[in-house]
Amino acid sequence: MIQKIKTFALLAMISMSSLPMMGQDLLAHQAPVDRRMKAVDSVALQRLIDFDNLENPSADLYEDWDNMHAHSHVTVLPDSFRISLKNFCMPTTSRVLTSNFGARWGRQHKGLDIKVYIGDTIRAAFAGKVRVVRYEGRGYGKYVVIRHDNGLETYYAHMSKQLVVEDQEVRAGDPIGLGGNTGRSTGSHLHFETRLCGVALNPALMFDFRNQDVVDDYYVFHKSSYQRESAVANRLRGVSGMSFGNDLDEDVELATAAPEASYVQESRFHKVKRGETLYSIAHKRGTTVDAIMKLNHLKKNSKLRPGQILKFN
Ligand SMILES: [Zn+2]
Repeated sequence: MIQKIKTFALLAMISMSSLPMMGQDLLAHQAPVDRRMKAVDSVALQRLIDFDNLENPSADLYEDWDNMHAHSHVTVLPDSFRISLKNFCMPTTSRVLTSNFGARWGRQHKGLDIKVYIGDTIRAAFAGKVRVVRYEGRGYGKYVVIRHDNGLETYYAHMSKQLVVEDQEVRAGDPIGLGGNTGRSTGSHLHFETRLCGVALNPALMFDFRNQDVVDDYYVFHKSSYQRESAVANRLRGVSGMSFGNDLDEDVELATAAPEASYVQESRFHKVKRGETLYSIAHKRGTTVDAIMKLNHLKKNSKLRPGQILKFN
């Protein structure tokens, strides 16, 4: 203790005695620095801007900042864009995916569903600034949207509680909410979206929840290949153009899916629940009774039993 006080006193003495000298030093150097700055003004400024853009590509990508609407920003999608996945944090420690990105029940599911329990901590995937903290009773429930420095925006939906406020700066791994079952959801889970300029990208291209890791150091987005893929997807859906909207659709957890089954399997199989009929399953999965019968060699009068596994492709 005495040693600490002594050290403190010594440090205080040193800093006091050196302060005036340092101050003068700084003043003496200030003028030349100012002149130099003027001389290289534009070049230096441009370098600073370039550096800033490198560190924060989102500054270049988005021209607006909207707290009200999750999907309102009209931003021109770049032809290609490299999203750095370094310094990430998995939004949840859960490794169980209950629903995949993409076509589901004849509509588009814009994110991944990850099994979480009410009260589980949900964390910011990267550093950034919270853009939206809102409640949408017929959709996302209690949700948070974060715009990250790497250009990506992440959405966290159906939470039981939001732990951040709009315009708050967050670091990767900061708790932003608690797992829940709010909004259009049955069964507690996290609906997680990754968007670039409003366009939903498959989070599985970046985040591997099963291995609790990112897929690579970078994810490179190419507008051309994305448009090709969505054109095919839209042809299948009978719609044209890219889809920017919310279109969350009924975010119902696949309660029938075995927790350890991979999401690829879950999208191909259906475990029959008590009371389900071929018709209700076909409706739920966006297919027809005939298609299910054909794939599973069933007859019109075949009885379904609970636990029976049906194939879908
Ligand atoms: Zn979902």
